[in-house]
Amino acid sequence: MKVCKFGGTSMATAQSILNVKSIIESDSERKYVIVSAPGKRFSSDIKITDMLYSAYQEKFETGSCANNIALIRTRFVELAKELGLDIDMNKYVDEVEAGILKSTSPDYAASRGEYLSAVIMSAVLGFDMLDAGDVIKFKHDGTFDSELTNDLVKKHALNAKNGLVIPGFYGRMPDKTIKTFSRGGSDFTGAIIARGVGAKVYENWTDVNGFLVTDPRLVDKPKNIEVLSYEELRELSYMGAGVLHPDSIFPVQIDKIPINIRNTFEPNHKGTMIMASTKGYDIPKVTGIAGRKGNTTISMKKAMMNAEIGFCRKVLSVLERNGLSIEHVPTGIDTMSIVLSDAGLKGVDENKLIDDIRGAVNPDHIEITHSLALIAVVGHGMANSRGVAATLFNALYKAGVNVRMIDQGSSELNIIVGVEEKDYNASIKSIYNAFFGC
Ligand code: ASP
Repeated sequence: MKVCKFGGTSMATAQSILNVKSIIESDSERKYVIVSAPGKRFSSDIKITDMLYSAYQEKFETGSCANNIALIRTRFVELAKELGLDIDMNKYVDEVEAGILKSTSPDYAASRGEYLSAVIMSAVLGFDMLDAGDVIKFKHDGTFDSELTNDLVKKHALNAKNGLVIPGFYGRMPDKTIKTFSRGGSDFTGAIIARGVGAKVYENWTDVNGFLVTDPRLVDKPKNIEVLSYEELRELSYMGAGVLHPDSIFPVQIDKIPINIRNTFEPNHKGTMIMASTKGYDIPKVTGIAGRKGNTTISMKKAMMNAEIGFCRKVLSVLERNGLSIEHVPTGIDTMSIVLSDAGLKGVDENKLIDDIRGAVNPDHIEITHSLALIAVVGHGMANSRGVAATLFNALYKAGVNVRMIDQGSSELNIIVGVEEKDYNASIKSIYNAFFGC
């Protein structure tokens, strides 16, 4: 059977929910339905999950969450009415309000969008509803308990007689409180259920026709990616391709269940298939091009660095003590650079960090540079094929871009280049044209 997850835009309006219904009813194998909270209906609209976080904030600041609850109530009551459902959404929203007033973390509030979405979807489909809190479990330390969860999914979902609707995004701690995954985490819930019930495919229904080769805001109508491996997906998502939560592959890769990204608003489009391996498919040299701005480099020079055993370890220990995760470590004979994300550096005293590194390894020179953009050119097709690097660097040369950093993993799955942020858009366009232009 198939597990289908529907994202926020698929759950946003009565019409989109009816699209979901016809997708489910067109294929009897679509038995498990995971839903997100209703998302935006138009660009200035507010996602239900954001309203719920605001409701928690409102209660924190004023002792009441009435303003945000009123907005949330209107959305759900209207949805149920437009769909002609005989459910008292007011009663459900009252419960949510009372729960938020009692809760001590924002997670309960945040999870209720998915919960109420599932109440509506199960009524529309005539499927039973299984509360994610009954099957998705976290350990005492707050990490996801994958094995207990897998056993519970098997026990409660596998032999369900009817179809099941399950809210995404959250589970329960051992003390029964609600805990959510990171934002976009309903994708992860879908993958967990797909593993637990042994689905033949995990369909992830969203509002685009799958992954595109690159960012459509930078390149006009980039090509679609038809097939992608789990590894390529990780690389592209990590570097900014935002269609699917990057952790979603972990549950499904255990049993090699393919993920099919589909479009609720264009259900006949095949979308993108994400699989353990793309061997045997006609794949291009480059599968995708992704990137992100907002990186900082710390560069050091020291004569005879190459002979100084422990140099890198000492530098990395300083970063570890400061709780910093590293993106890349390009090195030369007497030079070492560390690339860090600006997001990770937030709140860190950079002068103190540099002083700490000086104290640890006494470099001859050390400097910190901001505004680096990283671009990843990803694809299994580049292994053993000639000319990929040449095409890439020629494209950057043609665009008049100075390359600040180069990194290629030994798996030949990607080449990462660092360019100045001001050159980012031109670089992506030129690289895309070089590999995919006519
Ligand atoms: N509703 C949650 C969010 O906005 C989770 C999800 O949609 O996957 O992040």
